[in-house]
Amino acid sequence: MFPFAYTRVSNTREALDAGRQGGRYIAGGTTLVDLMRETVERPESLVDISALPLREITVTERAGLRIGALVRMSETAAHPKVRTLYPVVSQALELSASAQLRNMATIGGNIMQRTRCTYFRDVTADCNKREPGSGCAALHGYNRTHAILGTSESCVATHPSDVAVAFAALEASVHLLGPDGARSLPFADFLLRPRSTPSREQALRKGELITAVEIPALPRPLKSGYLKVRDRQSYEFALTSAAVALHIRRGVIREARVAVGGVGTVPWKLPAVEQHLIGERPSESLWTAAAERAADGARPLEHNGFKVELLRRTVERQLRIVGGTK
Ligand code: SF4
Repeated sequence: MFPFAYTRVSNTREALDAGRQGGRYIAGGTTLVDLMRETVERPESLVDISALPLREITVTERAGLRIGALVRMSETAAHPKVRTLYPVVSQALELSASAQLRNMATIGGNIMQRTRCTYFRDVTADCNKREPGSGCAALHGYNRTHAILGTSESCVATHPSDVAVAFAALEASVHLLGPDGARSLPFADFLLRPRSTPSREQALRKGELITAVEIPALPRPLKSGYLKVRDRQSYEFALTSAAVALHIRRGVIREARVAVGGVGTVPWKLPAVEQHLIGERPSESLWTAAAERAADGARPLEHNGFKVELLRRTVERQLRIVGGTK
């Protein structure tokens, strides 16, 4: 590990001052400290924001939810309102990491976490995300777990977060506070596809701090859930995953929200699948037909072609589970 300065701040003004001077924010530290030990990350200055008052979950108008950036993953998953209003969020969190990590890691940190591409974590490998311009060892290396959607010639790494897939499906927004004031971004605009600059992963300005993630109110009743497919049943990242939320009234699907994980360079929303569902009655044939669109635009690599069919099956199965025809 390289030497670094450490500052603990007690209010947002101190945090923003330190951030403006180039300090790197840290809270749970469950990703950043690992990466510093491996010398993948070498921040000169850490700003510990754990004491900031960003630890509340509040119900917003007509039962949307606002989750403070420093609420722990485990607290969010266990919160009664999250469990009843948006089970897809609770399930995505409970299928993430390990119990110990969920007790430390925060919601803000979770959506900021960096890829699990093994070449990114191997400082001897070429990696445009870690060292811009050095190349991408995964493109012609072992790329079984890499992305098939949203890739570029510069990077094919997946985004590792599960709850980010639920946030993408539910069209959440990310609240930010920076030297120029507060703003919010749709979740779809917060995480960036790699394009030619994979080292830039979020649409954050210098010194900006995540203050909350807000899930909008959606029509009720809303059934939702998260399915994660992985090589082993615990403490593993997704090969594919699907976050589904359906509003079904008088036997007809009025609203549909679908996003997938483990396959995209960012959590991947599926508007074609959603449109196929809206206005239809739940049925086995509907789930199958809608899921046919799940891998539209996929560009598999040498070792991850299996993800195309696995993704279709994951979406079909989760539509069936949430839609309730079986
Ligand atoms: Fe680096 Fe992205 Fe290539 Fe992995 S896929 S080696 S993170 S550039």
